[in-house]
Formats: sequence, C-alpha cells, structure tokens
Amino acid sequence: MEIKILASSSKGNCIYVSDGRTGLLLDCGLPVQEIKRGLNFGLSQVAACLLTHSHNDHAKAAKDIIKAGIDFYASPATVGALGLVGHRVKTIKPMDRFEVGMWRVLAFDAVHDVETLGFLLSSTPYKVLYLVDSAYCKYRFRGLTHILVGCNYSLDILRRNMAEGFLLAELKSRIMRAHMSLETLREMLKANDLSRVEEIWLLHLSEGNSDAERFKREIRELTGKPVYVFAGE
Ligand SMILES: [Zn+2]
Ligand SMILES: [Zn+2]
Repeated sequence: MEIKILASSSKGNCIYVSDGRTGLLLDCGLPVQEIKRGLNFGLSQVAACLLTHSHNDHAKAAKDIIKAGIDFYASPATVGALGLVGHRVKTIKPMDRFEVGMWRVLAFDAVHDVETLGFLLSSTPYKVLYLVDSAYCKYRFRGLTHILVGCNYSLDILRRNMAEGFLLAELKSRIMRAHMSLETLREMLKANDLSRVEEIWLLHLSEGNSDAERFKREIRELTGKPVYVFAGE
C-alpha cells in the first residue's frame, strides 16, 4: 500500500494512493504541475481522480486532470459548480459503488458547507477511508486498514484563539460546522472497529487552530496505532 500526501491543508489537498496495481488521486487541489512533480513528473500511474467537493483547495487542478485524459469522479453538484465537461467526467452520488482498476469504491456523504463526499476504497487486503472537510462522520466502518481523516482543530485551541481575539466568532462557527475537531475524531475512532488498522493519517490541520504533535500523540494513545500527520504545506 502506497500513500503519498502531496498536500493537505487549507492551501491544497491532493493524495495519491495505490494498492500496488491501481493508483488513484484523492482530490486535486494543487496546480497540476505540482501534482506531476509530486508523482515523479507523470500522471501515467493515475487511473482516476476522486473529488470530494468543489472548494478550490481540493479541486484546483480538476480541469487539467480531465484534460490529461484521466477519469474523474465527482458528485453532480460538484461537477456543476466547477463546470466540468467531457467523457472523462463520471458523476457519482452518496452510496454509489463503482470500480476503478482493482479498487472498489463506495462514495458516501460528508458533512460540510457544500455537498461533499467521503470515500471508502477496498482492494484486498486493504480498506482505506478518506474523509476530509466533514464536521463528523455519519457512518461506521468495519475492517479499515488505513484511515485518512481530516482533523482540523481542537475545541480548546479554538476557544483560546477566540478569547484572545485571533479568531472571529463567525469564522469559529464556520469551522465548527464544516470541519472535524480532534474531539469529534476521537469519538469517531472509538465508534469504529480498529482491529485491522495499520495507519492513521491526520489531514487538513488548521494553521492557527491545531497542534500537530499533540493531535498525533492523543490519537496514538487513544488507538495504539501508528499515527502520521501531514506537516508540509
Ligand atoms: Zn478543504
Ligand atoms: Zn471545503
């Protein structure tokens, strides 16, 4: 199993996953040149791109990826919002199941401020959950091996930043409605069967409202699993 986080923050989200046979891009929120550079100057190993939603930090390269002849999966609302066209564009709805190469994919609805999908990717022996930009997770999963999940902020840091005047109330409530807190992630992990989990990746940390080392430590202590945080830009 190969997981390459090309970017994961409010500035851009793009992740490459491969079971060794089929490579997928999860979101494409970087300039396409940067995606190519991150993949050793080629998109040839990418069988498809799965897009969670229309926000630019996830969708920036959508048109370029489609132009490059790569199958592109997104919800009808996302396709409409971005004005995506062409035979490479495949519209998918929550609870749709489809296959890309060796991967079996289940799309499900996330909880964000625009229509957003999460993805469950299965290719024996792997079962990968990808959920970013979601206030919480509506579903439980069995037998996950890799969890790639947004962990944007923690409540105490958010409250402190607000009390100290670094954060406007309006922005605070938007963050809380649309992104997952450390506290919510803890509850989500407790609600799921983690017996087969090999790796947990914490993604999309807020620049001002998170603490990468602490989040990693807390989730490692809670789960007993290897935890990684994307710390780049
Ligand atoms: Zn985002
Ligand atoms: Zn978003």
